[in-house]
Amino acid sequence: MHPFQYQRATSGSQAVAAVAQAPDAAFIAGGTSQVDLLKEGVHQPSLLVDVAGLPLRQITDFEGGVRIGANATNTEAAYYPAIQARYPAVSEALLAGASVQIRNMATMAGNPLQRTRCPYFRDLDQPCNKRTPGSGCAAIGGYNHVHALFGASAACVATHPSDLAVALSALDARVQTTGPRGNRTIAFPDLHRLPGTTPHLDTILEHGELITSIDLPAFAGRSHYLKVRERASYAYALASCAVALEMDGAKIKRARIALGGVAHKPWRATPAEALLAGQQPTEKLFQAAAAAAFADAKPLEHNAYKIPMGRNLLVRALLETSGLQPLQGPAGTAFAASVGGMAGQVATPN
Ligand code: SF4
Repeated sequence: MHPFQYQRATSGSQAVAAVAQAPDAAFIAGGTSQVDLLKEGVHQPSLLVDVAGLPLRQITDFEGGVRIGANATNTEAAYYPAIQARYPAVSEALLAGASVQIRNMATMAGNPLQRTRCPYFRDLDQPCNKRTPGSGCAAIGGYNHVHALFGASAACVATHPSDLAVALSALDARVQTTGPRGNRTIAFPDLHRLPGTTPHLDTILEHGELITSIDLPAFAGRSHYLKVRERASYAYALASCAVALEMDGAKIKRARIALGGVAHKPWRATPAEALLAGQQPTEKLFQAAAAAAFADAKPLEHNAYKIPMGRNLLVRALLETSGLQPLQGPAGTAFAASVGGMAGQVATPN
């Protein structure tokens, strides 16, 4: 492992100043993802500033919604009563990720900042523009079965791995930060970047900018998260979706849909959202919405299976969220599913 200095932060402003003054310094909190990258030599900081001890762990009611402190653990958020009751997609996404032990350590700010699970990113013998800018992309001509359908570039075709981020995008969560230039609020769908020519940058956060909380805005509708993965537990999404529906009587007033496992960021399916607004829920309508959601997909050599898989998963999530079909996913019992002709496991809590 590359040697580094370690500091315990004494305050938010001290932590921000300490990281901002060194170009290759970084924050660490739960460390569940970052320590792997340190051990693999993918991440080689000169200084780690540990923010886990800062008083950023509370989860509270806030402006009709819920404010989740950056250092709240994934377990604490997943089982927080108001999140379970009013934002089940968040709870389901958390429980569909990692293991109990990891969720007990992982923080709510750290989870959406996980780096890609592209296998070439973690293989120091392979070219990777995300790890080493300008070195090339081994995935483009390689085995790209877990890679992106949307928003990829000639420099990088990786996907974003966080389940939680998909739910937060569909719910239009807001990220509160403090940084060298003060405090700001970031709409969650704007937090992550597409790769473009700078795939080494995952988010719009500036160097030294620290997430202090994640806010779930007031929401009176229904939400749900579904994920397909390669095995029954502890695997990243091949495809996932989060759905948030607000109803007006028997009609859908507003739909928000985010897709996971298909892009460098949670991918908002805006054509499908527009198609659903003002309509009465039916399976036929949901199939049309799913077709619209994937109409612009651009598969690589090995990942076209994600298109029917993602479409079918979205139809099922819409059916379950609208009540046209009973919940069978995370709230039900474990079962294997063939989604779009590709065998996978619909995720249940690990
Ligand atoms: Fe690296 Fe992105 Fe290419 Fe994967 S897809 S090898 S992360 S540049």
